[in-house]
Amino acid sequence: MLVVNELTNIKGNKIYVRVDFNVPQKDGVIRDNNRIKAALPTIEELTKKGARVVLMSHLGKIKWKEPDPAKIEAMKKANDMAPVAKALQELLPETKVHFCPATRGEELKKAVEALKDGEILLCQNTRYEKGEEKNDPALAKEWADLCDGFVMDAFGSAHRAHASTVGVPTFMKEEGKSVALGYLMIKEVKNLSRCVEVSPEDRPYIAILGGFKVSDKIKVIDTLLAKCDKILIGGAMAYTFAKAQGKAIGNSPCEEDQLDYARKCLADAKGRILLPVDSVITDKFEEGERTIKVVSAEEGIPEGFEGCDIGPKTQKLYAEEIAKAKMVFWNGPMGVFEQKDFQEGTKAVCAAAAALKGKAFTVIGGGDSASAVKQFGYKDDFSHVSTGGGASLEMIENDGHLPGVDILK
Ligand code: ADP
Ligand code: MG
Repeated sequence: MLVVNELTNIKGNKIYVRVDFNVPQKDGVIRDNNRIKAALPTIEELTKKGARVVLMSHLGKIKWKEPDPAKIEAMKKANDMAPVAKALQELLPETKVHFCPATRGEELKKAVEALKDGEILLCQNTRYEKGEEKNDPALAKEWADLCDGFVMDAFGSAHRAHASTVGVPTFMKEEGKSVALGYLMIKEVKNLSRCVEVSPEDRPYIAILGGFKVSDKIKVIDTLLAKCDKILIGGAMAYTFAKAQGKAIGNSPCEEDQLDYARKCLADAKGRILLPVDSVITDKFEEGERTIKVVSAEEGIPEGFEGCDIGPKTQKLYAEEIAKAKMVFWNGPMGVFEQKDFQEGTKAVCAAAAALKGKAFTVIGGGDSASAVKQFGYKDDFSHVSTGGGASLEMIENDGHLPGVDILK
């Protein structure tokens, strides 16, 4: 696979770069521009060499099943890419950034043709096109025909075989145009691959899994069980496992249809899956007047209460396990970290993994887990915090494969 700096004949050529500018925003106000910043090394590599850079990205969701056209229009308006072009221009004051409000047709073609060497054109949200998520060949062909080469730098979208991620490079390859990976992709793939192909010096390899649903993470549990030395489980999904062991879980979230799967995992793991030995429980999920206490897993959670975080004994136990690790992959918070009362579990795991800085390889995949480490101030202590929530998980699940990467091979 080529890397962006290995592309030749850059000057004056039009290069289509798929970036992940799916930033958190509301009414045009961008809350966090990290994803834009993460794509700058690739963009600047190309503009400095005199390429004419055409950027494409999706932003938010358009629910095409919605029957009311007015509501579709409102969704489009809420996910207009124009403010992102402005933010990009502010980050690159020396470079001209144009914005094209069209996603196809004459207007888009003219905007691309008008580009000068070293300039950037950011196109409107790819999801304004219904064919984007279906990888519609006519749409992909039209986009592929706009440019002379393709660079994939949208790690957060690399698990989706859409027109802008897989369709475009498919056509470009057929036409003999160059396709390459950007710097962000290289960094993400390199770091996450280390968690997939485990070398002996990275053991003990500990995975920490939390978050909401077992059913969301079945494949990742299976994959990690085969690769890791131990899996520490927390979050809401711990209660499905607890119930599978016959423990009382009160009103805690539980996926009844996953109980057999949970039992199978525990049997396969032969003691390598660790479950919480205590929980922080509450009689009311909403903040306000409520009773919060700690119970052991043995005594179980009484009716009327639900588990919202791992308890202090579990925090200590997990921290001790993490301290022995040479590699850590973490996906999913240990509790409802959005609420102050249930932050301690996630914080304790954060602190334990952060303390490995310089001694072990620590990776975070998963959108909520990444925002938790940022919130608690530990981001810089990790070896790698992935920019792609779903993509990082799918890469682990699928043994290192992502459609948006495989197509470039
Ligand atoms: P990630 O985005 O890192 O993959 P998930 O999306 O799977 O993580 O899960 C994150 C969500 O899980 C958070 O919103 C958190 O509040 C929720 N969660 C964690 N533990 C519990 C719990 N015990 N009860 C209810 N929700 C929980
Ligand atoms: Mg999430």
